[in-house]
Amino acid sequence: MAQKEDVFKKIVSHAKEYGFVFPSSEIYDGLGAVYDYGQNGVELKNNIKRYWWESMTLLHENIVGIDSAIFMHPTIWKASGHVDAFNDPLIDNKDSKKRYRADVLIEDEIAKIEEKIDKEVAKAAKRFGDSFDEAMFRQTNGRVLEHQQKRDVLHSRYEKAMNDNDLKELRQIIEDYAIVDPISGTRNWTDVRQFNLMFKTQMGSSADATMDVYLRPETAQGIFVNFLNVQKTGRMRLPFGIAQIGKAFRNEIVARQFIFRMREFEQMEMQFFVRPGEELNYFNYWKEARLKWHKALGMGDEKYRYHDHEKLAHYANAATDIEFQMPFGFKEVEGIHSRTDFDLSQHEKFSGKKIQYFDPELNESYTPYVIETSIGVDRMFLSVLCSSYEEQQLEGGDTRVVLHLPKALAPVKCAILPLVKKDGMPEKAREIMDMLKFDFACQYEEKDSVGKRYRRQDAIGTPFCITIDGQTVEDNTVTLRDRDTMQQERVAISELPRIIGEACSLNNLLKKLV
Ligand code: ATP
Repeated sequence: MAQKEDVFKKIVSHAKEYGFVFPSSEIYDGLGAVYDYGQNGVELKNNIKRYWWESMTLLHENIVGIDSAIFMHPTIWKASGHVDAFNDPLIDNKDSKKRYRADVLIEDEIAKIEEKIDKEVAKAAKRFGDSFDEAMFRQTNGRVLEHQQKRDVLHSRYEKAMNDNDLKELRQIIEDYAIVDPISGTRNWTDVRQFNLMFKTQMGSSADATMDVYLRPETAQGIFVNFLNVQKTGRMRLPFGIAQIGKAFRNEIVARQFIFRMREFEQMEMQFFVRPGEELNYFNYWKEARLKWHKALGMGDEKYRYHDHEKLAHYANAATDIEFQMPFGFKEVEGIHSRTDFDLSQHEKFSGKKIQYFDPELNESYTPYVIETSIGVDRMFLSVLCSSYEEQQLEGGDTRVVLHLPKALAPVKCAILPLVKKDGMPEKAREIMDMLKFDFACQYEEKDSVGKRYRRQDAIGTPFCITIDGQTVEDNTVTLRDRDTMQQERVAISELPRIIGEACSLNNLLKKLV
């Protein structure tokens, strides 16, 4: 585990050193859980967004996109439930002056008990070897049963308190289980308070005409409130979807793990509107389609798993997460939710406007049901970065850091490198650059030894290096170096667009999805 955390730290510094992700406002010592994307980061991020956008809008005739404003009428957040229920229970430690999520403190306590059980099981497994029957051991061992009972009692108390929104009981659990602040080590806690995660600001300039507005905590509501606009102007027939990419803001209390949990982040959401009764078929369709989208990137099928929700939000009738194996464990990257007609009905109720669809086949009007797919761009970015990073030992004692980015997502597709700065090589290199630059992101580099230049390109995940040497000037061939294998082959300049195109085109990636 310690090793994995080390790797994660290295990835974070690599991201900064090579222009992928910088802490926001760094010269002012940063701003908590806010990050900026650098010259390479923005290209990788844009490529992820393009892959998602095109997979939705080009590959589905019945999905269209929108771009709604970040500011929306404040009643929208009443209708969606965010004003009343988008809360985390907070607690402060009076000695360390640190703030925690009460639910996270209790969940950590539950995890500690579970760890104790796992330790007992691991010890016994070692002792009994091949004859070990784990299920039997868990059911009969005295110490395990004792821990398990303690865990179950705590868990059910915790679950009830959360369901009942009982803040006093959460505080009491922290008291009863003697949960201490990991920093001060004391139990000097405040009461538990609800904390709304939405950022609030004022719109309008004169004092009496101002209105409280929120920075949207999700992009989805912009889709719901435009349902009728899009359906009518696009003459859309059910089933159809609306896709949107945009910023979202959440005043996260426990902001950790780099760009995994940010206060300003970006979402790619698609709401798919269907006939009531057909929603679970479409839920299953999107569950599969979205996993296929992830797997097509070739980062390793074993790194993904579904996490089906047992406890559903009151408006949902099915929900699953797609989790990805980050260096700090399997974590949610995307959610797929069957949200029934909750959102559209709520907006109908709060706006007083009829939001229904007339179904010409059934000759009746109804409120459509919705399947939502919701993925964080930044979490996707992090999963790509983490699974691509490798420190490689090379023959001869050398090492290199390479990003095996999916080629279609790489910020730079090819580096164009004249071997030396003379003998017509730079001119020839420029000619090649002029030929390729309309189709591929290219980088021209002539400084330092070619070996050093290869390493710099490996570190930002450039799939190909094209080296122009003495022979190029004579016969119009170059060496083409592959990032992953480091193999070099001699190819004709005229072949370059085809070779690079086949390996790096987004179209080839999209074709895997149909
Ligand atoms: P979590 O349980 O991790 O807080 P969530 O279940 O609240 O996430 P959703 O509201 O379903 O997340 O949001 C959909 C997606 O948006 C998530 O799968 C994730 O990829 C992304 N996301 C949510 N919150 C953040 C955040 N603070 N920073 C970065 N991405 C986020």
